[in-house]
Order: sequence, then C-alpha cells, then structure tokens
Amino acid sequence: MSLTKPLTPHSTAHLTISQASCADDYDPNSMPVDKARAFIHAFLTPIAGIAKLPIRAALGRVLAEDIISPVNVPSHRNSAMDGWAVRFSDLGDDGTPLEEIGASFAGKPFVGSLAARQCVRIFTGGVVPIECDTVIMQERAKADGKLITFSAGAKLGQNVRQAGEDLQQGAVALEKGRIIRPAELGLIASLGISEVAVVRPLRVAFFSTGDELVSVGAPLGEGEIYDSNRYTLFGMLAKMGIEANDMGVVRDDPVILERAFRDAAGIADVVITSGGVSVGEADFVKTLLGKLGEVVFWKIAMKPGRPLAYGKIQDAHFFGLPGNPVSVMVTFYQFVRDALLTLQGVSPLPVQPLLKAVCTSPIKKAPGRTEFQRGVLYLEDGVWKVRTTGEQGSGILKSMSDANCFIMLHDHVGNVDAGVTVDVQILEGVV
Ligand code: AMP
Ligand code: MG
Repeated sequence: MSLTKPLTPHSTAHLTISQASCADDYDPNSMPVDKARAFIHAFLTPIAGIAKLPIRAALGRVLAEDIISPVNVPSHRNSAMDGWAVRFSDLGDDGTPLEEIGASFAGKPFVGSLAARQCVRIFTGGVVPIECDTVIMQERAKADGKLITFSAGAKLGQNVRQAGEDLQQGAVALEKGRIIRPAELGLIASLGISEVAVVRPLRVAFFSTGDELVSVGAPLGEGEIYDSNRYTLFGMLAKMGIEANDMGVVRDDPVILERAFRDAAGIADVVITSGGVSVGEADFVKTLLGKLGEVVFWKIAMKPGRPLAYGKIQDAHFFGLPGNPVSVMVTFYQFVRDALLTLQGVSPLPVQPLLKAVCTSPIKKAPGRTEFQRGVLYLEDGVWKVRTTGEQGSGILKSMSDANCFIMLHDHVGNVDAGVTVDVQILEGVV
C-alpha cells in the first residue's frame, strides 16, 4: 500500500495499523508531518452516541444530526427597508402621489386592503401587504401629509424579502458535524428549535511519564522537575471543549505503566501521554504497547516534536507525545487536534490558518524536516511581519507563552534570511 497520497478512512478500512505501517515508502525514522497526519487520519472513525441538549448547553458541541428547517425563513414576505409598500403598476412617470392609508410595523402588520393608487408606510421587517409588490425606501420618497411622491427609477419587487428566501421549510439548515458556534445557536433559535442532538462528549484520558516528574504542590528533590505537560494538555483539551481525565504522573516502571495504559484505555476513547517515546525509553514502552495493542513509533521529520507514537490500545486511540514541553504543544497542534475533531465527527474541519508574513529575523534551519519556530506576528506599516521569540529549545515553554504563532518552515527550506516571506500558523483560537 502506498502512503504517497493522503489516506481516507476507507482506504485502510481493511488494514491494521501494523499492516499499513509496512507500506513501501513508510519510514518510521523519518516520517513527514503530512504523511503522519494522513496515516493517523486513516484510522479515525467518528464516535457514535448522541445527547439531546437545550440549545444554549450545546454551544461548542458538534451537531449529531442535520437540522431541518421546520419553517420558511423569513416566515412571511417582509420589507428590507423603512419606506412605503406600493403596487409597482401604480407608480406612473407623472409624479402623481399615492395615498398612504396605514402602516406595517415589524410584528404589527397593516390590517385592511389597498385600493388603486394607495400605499402603506412600512418599516424594516414589516409584513408587505398582499396587494403590494414593491417597497420604496424612504430616502426616495417625499411625504406631504398622507400624500407620498416617489422618485423615478423604482424597480419591480425591490426591497421585498420573499418568504423562504433565506431557507425553505424542509431544507437542511445545518449539516451534522458542524460545531455549534454563536452563529449556529442563533440560526437554530431562529427556526424555533429549542433542543438539538449533539455528539456525546469525547472521553480523553492523559498522563505524564517520567521518574523525574513531581506534581505541583510537592517539594522538588534533586534532579526532579515539575510536571508541566499535564497542565498544557489540560489547557489545550479544555479549550477544545473536552473534559479530560487527568491520571497524574506515572513512573517509568513497566508494571505501573501497564496498569496505567490499561486503565486509561478502559475509560477513554483517546489516551494521550507525554514522555517515554524517545530513543532509549521507546524500547521499553514499545514492548509494553506491543503487548497491549498496536502502536507505531515514529521519528517525525519535524522540530520540535521528533518522537511520536500512534496506535490503538484496545479500542482507544493512543497518542504518545514526546516529553519536552514545547514538543507536546507542537505535536498536539499538528496531530492531536485534528484527530480529536475528526473523532467527534466535526466536518468540515476548522482550518489552522496559514498566513504569509515577512520574517524580520534570520533563522538557521536544515532542510529535510519541518520546523515550527515560535513566533510573534505583528502588523507594521500595513505589512504583516513575524519574528522569532528568541531561544527555541524544545524545553523552553516561555517560547510558547511569548508566541502568538508558529513560523512554519517547510521540509525543503534551508536557512531563512531576514526579509523573506514565510508561512505562519496562527495559534489563537485554534485550540
Ligand atoms: P522524554 O521524552 O521522556 O525523554 O522527556 C524529554 C524531556 O522532557 C526530558 O528532559 C524530561 O524531563 C522532560 N519532560 C518529560 N515529561 C515532562 C513533563 N510532564 N513536564 C515537564 N517536562 C517533562
Ligand atoms: Mg521520560
């Protein structure tokens, strides 16, 4: 099987992870970012399970069923302007005024009927009387008491919104897979729908691995460090609306780790860990995960974030992220985010916006891997510019904190001179 084309879930539906990983051009020691993403994607099937929620509670959730409009939108023929509703055929070229016989307000229609050469004052959203076919905006009319003279040049049907013009009764208003944002909430409410079917919450469990890790609140011993990955992971998951199960720090001990992997896979659709997948550690975790499921270990051709494991432990998807704090965030943005959205059935996937910006600092880079330098994107004299945050070590979380974007330097790119245009991935709002 070739992995040169992006895979669709169907193309590997019959394959296991280990079979797919035997493809000709599959190189676990130098896996391009795109290829890894496509490989993972091929094994993701959206979760089943629906919850019915009142619409406000559905904010941020994913629609599990199409929303079919039970009504026409707008529900009645109405005016797009403040002005007068007229019969077009009454508007002569002679400038003879029409007689205003009443008014139609939004929510308070004109009651009665119009004889020839009569008109009705109308306001935006007001029902257009049955006899009328056109609305003349008030800026194109002159009122002398109840006698209204209109400027020449009116067009038949202008400023009249037809019933069902925005959405026909029975039409699909929103397709399943859509994330419910404020616009969708409003749209659903505009149809008079008070409850929607959303995809059940995705179950995610995560833990950190490492003998050196201490949780905040406890004092540090010699050679120990505080566990920060569980906090960045918590934050990124929470920002995606996912309430995850934080399983704490797990020692580099085969027995304890095995129990943790089993427990996590037993309660979650997705298990995310950090640490323990780099050279030296991988062999031990590899053996363990080989026993518990099917997992592939890659060295991704990217920096930071080189070691990455993906696979299944029982029915759960497993992401073994690197231990370095920046690598955790970068691999989450590049791989885990997409996967979590896909598993929730999100369609279309929200884009990770790529902007072009002028790089104002020179960057050293070796071709052959994709780099995600932490950058600061700013507007200067009407031009989008970007500079690096400075030191780029994969342990320097401050570089993520100072950044508002990744400067994405593609595989083939070498050193970047100041003044060159680069691709920039915006971070804000992406997770
Ligand atoms: P590893 O991938 O386990 O070899 O870890 C790589 C580096 O990341 C080491 O310097 C670890 O100490 C560090 N590291 C691993 N896990 C964490 C964590 N949860 N929080 C902070 N640093 C970590
Ligand atoms: Mg470790």
